[in-house]
Amino acid sequence: MSFTSLGLSQPLLQTLKAQNYASPYPIQKEAIPAILNKKDVLGIAKTGSGKTASYVLPILMNIEGISLKKSRHITVLVLVPTRELAVQVNDVFKIFEKSLPERIKTMAVFGGASINPQMKSLMNVNVLVATPGRLLELIEKNAVHLGEVETLVLDEADKMLNAGFKKEMDQIFSLLPPKRQNLLFSATLNDDVGSINQILLHNPVVIKIESEEEDIELINQSVYSVAEGQKGPLLRHLIESKEMDQVLIFTSSVARADRVADKLRKNNIDAKAIHRKKTQGVRTDLLTKFKYGKLKVLVTTDLLSRGIDIENLPWVINYELPRSPKTYIHRIGRTGRAETSGEAITFISEGEEHHFRVIEKKMKKRLERIKIDGYS
Ligand code: AMP
Repeated sequence: MSFTSLGLSQPLLQTLKAQNYASPYPIQKEAIPAILNKKDVLGIAKTGSGKTASYVLPILMNIEGISLKKSRHITVLVLVPTRELAVQVNDVFKIFEKSLPERIKTMAVFGGASINPQMKSLMNVNVLVATPGRLLELIEKNAVHLGEVETLVLDEADKMLNAGFKKEMDQIFSLLPPKRQNLLFSATLNDDVGSINQILLHNPVVIKIESEEEDIELINQSVYSVAEGQKGPLLRHLIESKEMDQVLIFTSSVARADRVADKLRKNNIDAKAIHRKKTQGVRTDLLTKFKYGKLKVLVTTDLLSRGIDIENLPWVINYELPRSPKTYIHRIGRTGRAETSGEAITFISEGEEHHFRVIEKKMKKRLERIKIDGYS
């Protein structure tokens, strides 16, 4: 099947070609026609499956020709849980909207960046990609209105609909027109999404691409038993001996992320830490450098375990275990994306062994523990 048969316009087809999108991924085959038909969609597919383009393309088709609403009234609202994902989704809209004959303006807004420039730029925006908190601040300041939204997208919907965002999301829902197209994308279908599905979606087209469990088959997982105090030396040993030139490392706290990155730098390994205590400018800059191979090691917390797409990321290391098995799957899912294989390494100290068994049970997979002399 080709993109041509999905009903997309010539300019979009040309951009797809220029972007080397040869044929649609499974989620795109199903979501594009449904969204073009103005259906509600519930898409269960993780980031890396091509889900962003699966809504960006038909949304751009649908809003072409809709003349701009009253000033500061957007037509499409995409809600995302993190600033990084906002930037990423906005970039995909930008790639495709450039080719369109009619000018469509997309913008991303998120907290941590100054609000005044965002307020000014919100004139004549058609598509707004936003994190909930900043969106509400902008609404409060009359910089944007939701009364004419025709399509609502919740990306990483399970995260958007969990308790942490509930208050903000309820407020946003109350400002949206009741009649609209709703598109929900989520990596996992949990109870939150299940219940909201009933409230939010009208007769949706449900698309389930593959379960996380099947998906992680693409990832080569190895587990090292290591003494707690030897994690740093083992990390350096593996980065060097395996000649890793792009590796994402997960720790369980901001302080630990900083310490691990510092220690690597002291040992002449190009590493930086990225977490919620860094300014938005620094986060965006580091992520871009890392994505384009200009920074070898990025150490992070679970801020980055969801949603971030780094093309062909070859290595992920769990320096410490995450609390939940689901987060473990999200973390290692940063590699082995878009149908390529990847390597995930997990360090386990004696104290973490019990918790890792719980994760293995959830994955329905038992992994051999590797021990290296001098480190375990
Ligand atoms: P996403 O799941 O939206 O984060 O997309 C994952 C990656 O796949 C991104 O780097 C996209 O540029 C890429 N991608 C999406 N759809 C296609 C396609 N049909 N062909 C090739 N690459 C694609």
